[in-house]
Amino acid sequence: MEILEEAKRRLKASKYTVVFTGAGISAESGIPTFRGKGGIWEKYPPPFFGNPIGIILSFLFTPRRVRDFIVDAGEMFLNAEPNRGHIAIAEMERKGIVKSVITQNIDSLHEKAGSRNVVKLHGNAGKWRCMRCGKKKESSKEEMRAVIEEIRTVSGRVSFIQRLRRIIPSCECGGIMRPDVVLFMESLPMREWERAVSEAHLCDTMLIVGTSGVVYPAGRIPFIAKNNRAFLIEVNPEPSSLTSFTELFIKGRAGEILPELGRM
Ligand code: NAD
Repeated sequence: MEILEEAKRRLKASKYTVVFTGAGISAESGIPTFRGKGGIWEKYPPPFFGNPIGIILSFLFTPRRVRDFIVDAGEMFLNAEPNRGHIAIAEMERKGIVKSVITQNIDSLHEKAGSRNVVKLHGNAGKWRCMRCGKKKESSKEEMRAVIEEIRTVSGRVSFIQRLRRIIPSCECGGIMRPDVVLFMESLPMREWERAVSEAHLCDTMLIVGTSGVVYPAGRIPFIAKNNRAFLIEVNPEPSSLTSFTELFIKGRAGEILPELGRM
């Protein structure tokens, strides 16, 4: 495949490659993409479950649906393992081809696969964040499982609140903690955004994998790289909103294409 060979040549010649990923890279790990058919977001629409106001309203009117959402989403993240795509990217970092990964995903599968320099634009589903001082606390798999089990049996708003008070860790500053994820309508963590912008300025090649490119401001990252004359390579089974701006489009699944790209 000529395009694949051209992409390999580019990566080999590159001095600073940055990978930019979205939900598509984790699809083969069993985490559905945001817009994919039959995914979790079809069952729990983002206007009700993907932003703070929607979640509060859903909690007031349909607490059992919020319970089911937390249990389903929690189990999905808990059971997911890195796939061949994540592993290939980590391997390319070890070989010195890839310098960093900027991800929109909250699943930590890049880190689990061995990637070390990961910029997480939308947070981490496996951590808590203090709403007062910003301090973070990592949850072990066992702790996350215990949270899911506690939530699974709540039946109404009162028992839900009682359980939440029991399971949500408290911060040393006395503040309340919440999952360390960025919901729609919330701002991105400033430090991570600045790191992402800096990596986009530094790279001469950007490998874009599994993103529709329509979630902003994250979707600006490939354009920042392009404005700095980076060469854009995209891997996706379908053309995305970014495809017409990329130099090379490799049509295919991350788990099939990335191991091949990394073979050099
Ligand atoms: P998206 O759902 O808008 O787009 C996914 C893209 O991945 C599509 O272009 C699709 O064609 C492509 N794709 C599907 N299967 C693929 C595969 N096997 N290999 C490569 N590409 C594949 O996702 P987005 O652009 O990341 O935006 C959605 C938002 O929702 C993000 O902000 C993200 O934070 C969040 N999200 C995260 C996760 C996760 O953490 N794994 C999962 C779903 C959504």
